[in-house]
Amino acid sequence: MAEVRLVDIEKKYGNFLAVPQQSLTIEDGEFLVLLGPSGCGKTTTMRMIAGLEDITAGDIMIKGERVNDKPPKDRDIAMVFQNYGLYPHMTVRQNIEYPLKLRGVAKADRRKRAEETAAKVELDALLERRPSELSGGQRQRVALARAIVRTPSIFLMDEPLSNLDAKLRVTMRAELKHLHHELGVTTVYVTHDQMEAMTLANRVAVMREGRIVQLDTPKKIYAEPADLFVAGFIGSPSMNLIDGTVSGGVFRAEGVDVPIDMPDREGVVLGIRPEELEIAPGGAAFTGKLYALELTGDSTLVTLRAGKTSVCARGHADFEADINTDCHLAPKDGARFHLFDRASGERLI
Ligand code: ATP
Repeated sequence: MAEVRLVDIEKKYGNFLAVPQQSLTIEDGEFLVLLGPSGCGKTTTMRMIAGLEDITAGDIMIKGERVNDKPPKDRDIAMVFQNYGLYPHMTVRQNIEYPLKLRGVAKADRRKRAEETAAKVELDALLERRPSELSGGQRQRVALARAIVRTPSIFLMDEPLSNLDAKLRVTMRAELKHLHHELGVTTVYVTHDQMEAMTLANRVAVMREGRIVQLDTPKKIYAEPADLFVAGFIGSPSMNLIDGTVSGGVFRAEGVDVPIDMPDREGVVLGIRPEELEIAPGGAAFTGKLYALELTGDSTLVTLRAGKTSVCARGHADFEADINTDCHLAPKDGARFHLFDRASGERLI
């Protein structure tokens, strides 16, 4: 059971509390993604699991054993970090083979496995080069190949796709997903890219200022974000968040009129996803002037404005209308409205 448990762990750098006390269990075989904006403590959390960073308080348990004092090499983990950590004097082939060599795998077998792995990450043509002769994205792929060439108990991956171009990133994402399906190795993966988190994770831990604010399946996080921060962070384009008030069973803001079953209240934020809105005839829930049309290929993003209110809908690719003319948007059948408290960010409905 390659379970990883963080028990009341805490990290301070001098007086700065980077990760306040918290606990998290990553289950055996799980793909857990730590997601959050820059500086929220993802890398710090990961480095503590790896043993590259001392923990200020708490315990780290791997496979039921307390590893606080174990060096990284004795934790049976393979890591891919943003800064690659490749051996500069070795070729790509030697770098990829290295973890196998350390474990005494025979030369012919090593060679075969390194070549197979290199092919998976599209590096087969570059095996004899040294890291200094590679682009950033190529180096990142060598680091990835070196991690996946053997099957450890745990993978730790910190933004392993961040330096790849958009197309390769999508290919590699599928490769990682397939690899996880095949090997079922417990994986902790750090990213600030919500799409990567949604597509790869069994569960996502959304972090903010060192704390985990929501820990759930991607589906649940998308459907029911715990607070305003998560609501705004997940989804692309992000959820429409509109400031207004509820009175007489209706949420009101400039250009917005949505029946909501809750008592009168001020300082409320209404949330609805662009993909759950459609262009409608007059008298719809959202009324304003057409502000912008953006063709994305398979759809058109339609932005409506009314005073301070701005609402985006994902419409048909062939939708056309003149900018600054009247525009109406309505929720599609089954669309879900979310309500949050402006001051605390807490979810109300
Ligand atoms: P990014 O996505 O930018 O890599 P992150 O979520 O991984 O960010 P961390 O690198 O874990 O964030 O940093 C968390 C906080 O701890 C940040 O505020 C950072 O400035 C601080 N921090 C990180 N390392 C140190 C250090 N060695 N000394 C002091 N503060 C640090």
